[in-house]
Amino acid sequence: MVIAMDGPAGAGKSTISKLFAEKIGFMRLDTGALYRGIALAATRAGLKAEESEELNTLLASTEIDQIDGQIYLNGHLEEASIRTPDMSKASSDFAVLASVRQRLLEIQRNIGKTSDCILDGRDIGT
Ligand code: C5P
Repeated sequence: MVIAMDGPAGAGKSTISKLFAEKIGFMRLDTGALYRGIALAATRAGLKAEESEELNTLLASTEIDQIDGQIYLNGHLEEASIRTPDMSKASSDFAVLASVRQRLLEIQRNIGKTSDCILDGRDIGT
């Protein structure tokens, strides 16, 4: 079962989905954290928020996982690094790109196929 928790910034998605997931024993996926992770990887690689071959290569080669609510990029814990004001801005900039959305959609759908989960994030219903 997949539960979509949608709503605008500041609506309380994170707080409610954390409590709810714990109560019903589902995994919780913070989808915004995935966008932040991709933005961090792209920024470190010196990429701009625009479609490019380099971005496609990065998207194909970057392994992004969320384990116990923490983000790992290629096996490295990056939870603190994605929670900065710079990454708030960069994640929004990269999130508008079709290639980024497509890759993260695949990742989110795969997670939804393998376990019962609550996905929280803007427009997550799609
Ligand atoms: O929720 P959070 O602030 O961590 O999300 C970071 C950014 O990722 C958002 O500002 C938004 O631009 C993007 N995002 C998105 N779709 C989602 C979750 C986040 O476009 N489902």
